[in-house]
Amino acid sequence: MNLRDSIKTLGGVGPKKAEAFGKLGIETLEDLAYYFPRQYEDRREVKKIDELKDGETAVFIGTVYLIIPSGYRGKRGQVLKLLVSDDTGSIEVVFFNASYLKRAFRMGARYVFFGRVSEGRAVKQMIHPDFSREEDMETGMLPVYPLTKGITQKEMRRVQRLTEPYYADAEEILSEETRNRNGLCEIGPALRNLHFPKEDEAFDLAQHRLIFEEFLVLEMGVLAARGKVGKGKGIAFDRNDAEQEYIAGFPYELTAAQKNCVQQIKEDLESGHAMNRLVQGDVGSGKTAIAEIAMFKAVRSGYQAALMAPTEILARQHYEGMVRSFGRYGIKVGFLSGSMRAAEKRDILEKLIDQEIDIIIGTHALIQDEVTFARLGLVITDEQHRFGVNQRMKLKEKGDKINVLVMTATPIPRTLAVVLYGDLDVSIIDELPPGRQPIITRCGIPGEKGNLEQLRRRCYDFVERHVAAGEQAYVVTPLIDESEVLDVKSATEVYEELSARFERIALLHGAMKQEEKDLIMEAFARGEIDVLVATVVIEVGINVPNATIMVVENAERFGLAQLHQLRGRVGRGTAQSYCFLLIGNPSELAEKRGHIMQESSDGFFIAEEDLKLRGPGEIFGTRQHGLPDMKLADMARHMNYLSEARNEAVRILEEDPELLKEENQPLRRRVVKLFGEEMTLNL
Ligand code: ADP
Ligand code: MG
Repeated sequence: MNLRDSIKTLGGVGPKKAEAFGKLGIETLEDLAYYFPRQYEDRREVKKIDELKDGETAVFIGTVYLIIPSGYRGKRGQVLKLLVSDDTGSIEVVFFNASYLKRAFRMGARYVFFGRVSEGRAVKQMIHPDFSREEDMETGMLPVYPLTKGITQKEMRRVQRLTEPYYADAEEILSEETRNRNGLCEIGPALRNLHFPKEDEAFDLAQHRLIFEEFLVLEMGVLAARGKVGKGKGIAFDRNDAEQEYIAGFPYELTAAQKNCVQQIKEDLESGHAMNRLVQGDVGSGKTAIAEIAMFKAVRSGYQAALMAPTEILARQHYEGMVRSFGRYGIKVGFLSGSMRAAEKRDILEKLIDQEIDIIIGTHALIQDEVTFARLGLVITDEQHRFGVNQRMKLKEKGDKINVLVMTATPIPRTLAVVLYGDLDVSIIDELPPGRQPIITRCGIPGEKGNLEQLRRRCYDFVERHVAAGEQAYVVTPLIDESEVLDVKSATEVYEELSARFERIALLHGAMKQEEKDLIMEAFARGEIDVLVATVVIEVGINVPNATIMVVENAERFGLAQLHQLRGRVGRGTAQSYCFLLIGNPSELAEKRGHIMQESSDGFFIAEEDLKLRGPGEIFGTRQHGLPDMKLADMARHMNYLSEARNEAVRILEEDPELLKEENQPLRRRVVKLFGEEMTLNL
């Protein structure tokens, strides 16, 4: 047997079990070896019943002296209650929905129970513990795996035990050099000690090695996708002050932060090294102007520029603005999106090849193979966090030695930026244009100040007064339709309810046809609609300065970063703006988020808090940045491993840029497996 064998080669795993394992992504023994415990049960110390404390998770041994099956109890099904004692006291053990367990216990026999102790009204209880007969007792640190229907914890542990002898055959992707340099153990012992830890020290070593491995593969992928370590040659734009000419056309003066950023971009673009820059600036900080200036410089140097936005609405808004602002310089701007008619598209594609279009603005449609340029010199991605790494890379592949600018309003904590972008240069716009008043944020939590309906009524009274004064409002809900989840306001529901109050009101959601969405957005932008009820389709980029109120229904269903993005839709003009977060189903987390929003308008601070609140459980939100999920590695806790891995990745690529050396083949295979062939073409 070896690790590449199917899980079906294990005794007791038939087709049905294999299918259940398949749902967990486990097909081979190797998959099993890399299926890691979520936590461990410490069964090293067996307690006496009188030592069991409320809230702790513990193991004890006792004699069953009474078995009380009860009748059917509603949702919870059959309840089985055991009274269990030892020489120090007694405890109630309860199983819900578990009539099948009746025959598992024998009166007068001794069993081991492991679970959480709760001190009920009068009695100690343990609800749904793990159990076994005393003679079958498992001790030590037991792994606890994430499960799926059809696979019990016992079964998972059993198959892991059967696989344990083969862990040592797992492919070693870290060369001896890498292991020595970083003090890492080999893969075999690492896997063994992670699944079945015996001593703390060995366990720590195992964790270190496997986390390092995950980070290393991640870093290799990120670096590979970017093409190379260090700076490559790039198209150099003309050294002149073209940007000043364009800046002079703005109706406002650039903020100091914008000027600074423009200067950095200018230096990049004239340097002859490919620009690889991230512009990070809070919502409303004026990133579009920066993009325009860079594109103007490209065109004045005889090149084309492309700007990709994550949604059609946003792309169109950019397009319309830029047709106007570039028009007066005789620069031709085109638009491309998936929803365009074939003939229109063909026309645009031809014009791109003939360089009859200087600047193209569009959606994902821009990265399709059929899109080719005559002389592309600059690509810009707006709201880059909405795109996967591959999508960004693909746009860059449309030309040779292209200059790249990515813009985001979702602040990435420094630490994460290093992993994701490495030596990508970062410009930060940490200043809003003058005259903006901070948005007043209020959190509606049902309680002393009224129940939810009362809070909502007051909130919409407020909206009504401001609408009467000529201002506009967004109302955002988490869902489109009612049926999806109970206790959550849907967009249609809210729309119907508010239609009684507001005459000029419209509904906007992702499932609508593009033309419909456009018509509504345009009408809203022209001020013909007062209240726009929408799902998160309006999350990114939309700019309507006369909109001053943002109401978020069921705000508890949104993450901090998302709430901050939503709030950024208002406060874009000079009038005082407001954001109301209505909490439909309060929880500690929801209230914390609400308070942070009330307290702060600093996107960077909010991003850090977001990371903290999401905690180690949700592995550092790589997915929202288009990277694969990590299994063990946790950004917040394992920062030092991360920088070790990063250094090692750079080192390996410096010595072997395309991973051609024999000893690097296992690593190369792993990186390709995780990131896909397409993204790792440079390897
Ligand atoms: P974001 O950074 O969120 O993309 P935008 O580029 O959409 O922000 O800019 C938001 C608004 O601020 C726009 O209406 C834009 O015209 C305006 N703006 C940008 N820079 C300045 C500035 N320096 N002074 C005044 N208004 C500005
Ligand atoms: Mg923007």
